[in-house]
Amino acid sequence: MKPATALVHGGSLRSSFGELSEALYLTQSFAYPSAEAAEARFKGEDPGFIYSRFSNPTVAMFEQRMCLLEGAQAARATASGMAAVTAAMLSQVRAGDHVVSARALFGSCLYVVEELLPRFGVETTLVDGADIAQWKKAVRKETKAFFLETPTNPGLEVYDIKAIADVAHEAGAKLIVDNVFATPLLQKPFEFGADLVVYSATKHIDGQGRCLGGVILASQALIDETLHNLLRQTGPALSPFNAWVLLKGLETLPLRVARQTESAARIADFLAAQKGVSRALYPFRDDHPQAALAKRQMLGGGTLVCFEMRGGKEAAFKFANALEIIKISNNLGDAKSLITHPATTTHQRLAPEARAKLGISDGMLRLSLGLEDIDDLIEDLEFGLRALSA
Ligand SMILES: *Cc1c(COP(=O)(O)O)cnc(C)c1O
Repeated sequence: MKPATALVHGGSLRSSFGELSEALYLTQSFAYPSAEAAEARFKGEDPGFIYSRFSNPTVAMFEQRMCLLEGAQAARATASGMAAVTAAMLSQVRAGDHVVSARALFGSCLYVVEELLPRFGVETTLVDGADIAQWKKAVRKETKAFFLETPTNPGLEVYDIKAIADVAHEAGAKLIVDNVFATPLLQKPFEFGADLVVYSATKHIDGQGRCLGGVILASQALIDETLHNLLRQTGPALSPFNAWVLLKGLETLPLRVARQTESAARIADFLAAQKGVSRALYPFRDDHPQAALAKRQMLGGGTLVCFEMRGGKEAAFKFANALEIIKISNNLGDAKSLITHPATTTHQRLAPEARAKLGISDGMLRLSLGLEDIDDLIEDLEFGLRALSA
């Protein structure tokens, strides 16, 4: 099955009623036909379901569909993207180990690597993800995991997954890639050597702003050996209801991502040509510093645009406040177009020097393109630009 077909039909488990739409199994546990059957299931001799913290038919359908999309052997769904990132990270380390991570991370991911892991005796080195020499230099004999996001949030920097995977593997470490900004359709980290791929399904996979969810994908062996028990016993399980919403989201994912990517590319060009905008960053624009790498590694430039207003925070706020269709929200991947000012929201927690190091200026705005008509979006942005001179 090609991706669009797999996303509609893949992984379906039909009950004896033959329901066409995937069933929502809103149940905590499962009844066994006999004590012997219960024993067999607990021994792993019978693959049936036991308890929804371990697995659930609706959740299993979502996991199977994600495997088909990603070309992975196994997947485990989680209650949020952060549950996926945290479990993926914890699954690879123990006290005394070391992690190397790109510095440009989603705020909560930065908390996990910079503050949480060290509390349990796992040291972390943060590097400039675009500089392969820094990844190499950071390696120690205790290094067990590399972590990165590409494109990054909010600066849309693009990192060379293949080159970084090679450094990780030479060091005997696993590479974990948070692939949210690229979406599973536009970038295939396993093809470039990633060992674990994680998503916040909250973003494009739901795509309509309804529920949180996450997923971790890897080889069957890696899941069995490092993640299976961790997830079962600690319980960051995805609710069957949310799994059902996300399954339905997957059916329309290719249509939505294609439309959002087309809008993002056009709006990046539009913004780059405006006097009030000092620069617009989009991975597939020729003036993006890693455009050649982006075109090698990605099938499209993605659904987000990052740009800088002349006039700093004041201009950025004035512009955002004047928008009517585009909403001010730190979320992304939604059907609704969303704009955020990273310096005062998602990256507010960082010291000004840390923000500067990540290239997050006071005039920077991040725009996540939704499904609205492109003409309406451009008119809304023109409206915002006119407010600057008012
Ligand atoms: C949103 C996001 C997360 C966290 O996901 P939640 O579902 O909000 O927990 C992690 N990484 C990236 C890149 C994200 O955009």
